[in-house]
Amino acid sequence: MQQNLDYQQLKKQIKAWALEVGFQQAGISDIDLSEAGVYLNSWLEKNYHGQMEYMQRHGDKRYHPEQLVPDTLSIISVRLDYMQSKLTPYETLTKQPNKAAISRYALGRDYHKVLRKKLKKLTEKIATAIGPFGHRVFTDSAPVMEKAIAEKAGLGWIGKHSNLLNSKAGSYFFLGEIYTDLPLPPDRKQSFHCGSCTQCIQDCPTDAIVAPFQVDARRCISYLTIENKGPIPIEFRQAMGNRIYGCDDCQVVCPWNKFTQDTQEQDFSPRHQLDDIDLLTLFTWTEDEFLSKTEGSPIRRIGYQAWQRNLAVGLGNAKSSEEIIQALKDKLNTASPMVKEHIQWALKQLST
Ligand code: SF4
Repeated sequence: MQQNLDYQQLKKQIKAWALEVGFQQAGISDIDLSEAGVYLNSWLEKNYHGQMEYMQRHGDKRYHPEQLVPDTLSIISVRLDYMQSKLTPYETLTKQPNKAAISRYALGRDYHKVLRKKLKKLTEKIATAIGPFGHRVFTDSAPVMEKAIAEKAGLGWIGKHSNLLNSKAGSYFFLGEIYTDLPLPPDRKQSFHCGSCTQCIQDCPTDAIVAPFQVDARRCISYLTIENKGPIPIEFRQAMGNRIYGCDDCQVVCPWNKFTQDTQEQDFSPRHQLDDIDLLTLFTWTEDEFLSKTEGSPIRRIGYQAWQRNLAVGLGNAKSSEEIIQALKDKLNTASPMVKEHIQWALKQLST
């Protein structure tokens, strides 16, 4: 710990530096995440995490920051907006069954890399001002309860869909954290502003928000298309529609997203027209094309098999055409058993 530092003043400076390096907001949380820990354990007990075993793997460390990074005394939480109003609206795409609806956060460069670079710049600014200090940065990459931390840091409140909401910026943003040994004074938690609204619960295509703040990941299209390594359960395939990577529906219907602000981040601009592209075009990508076109993109992490699996479901829900049926048949012989079963499902859908 640095002696003789005015930590109140340093906190103000850190917030200003966070804006200088490109974040839209920063706040400070203390390290008492016990309330979030109770919520996490009850969610895990209900098996709502599905195959996300990593959610259990680190035991208490998720809600004991000082166990994850010894000597942590406070956490700097930052917000980076990613939405671009020039894009074809996601809700327009979900009404066009032959188009691919891809979650808006995943259209450009991998956010982990963008956030990490900025967090590093922020730590450098702090170190330049006060000298070396203990810290570790996180970008959705370790057992960190980033929404609970951001809520405590005054960046917003956790909505009934379990995402963080900000009254001036909606919910289309990424969060990052710096665990630090600096005893920065914590900010005040923002109050809850969902009120009596239940729009996200009503409009979830697969009824994944089983109760306010309770998302059963096993029903959630984001989980089914990204985290899930196996087949997509048949009961959810029609409801998936053309959502082939993630799902933004609960955010689209949220009234707070009328306050969304455009990102200034060029790195988040869509690559390969992913913001408005046909399912068929994506389905015809070879594995080599998939690997080269998704280089540096978060989409790459799901791998080609899951990509084809998701697209086969999307095509099964599309408006049938000779071209689509032929493309599905063309892949039958070379597809893995899992993808083959999804293609067969799609062909059956299109023939009825
Ligand atoms: S849709 Fe309504 S209930 Fe859901 S997060 Fe937004 S304000 Fe809260």
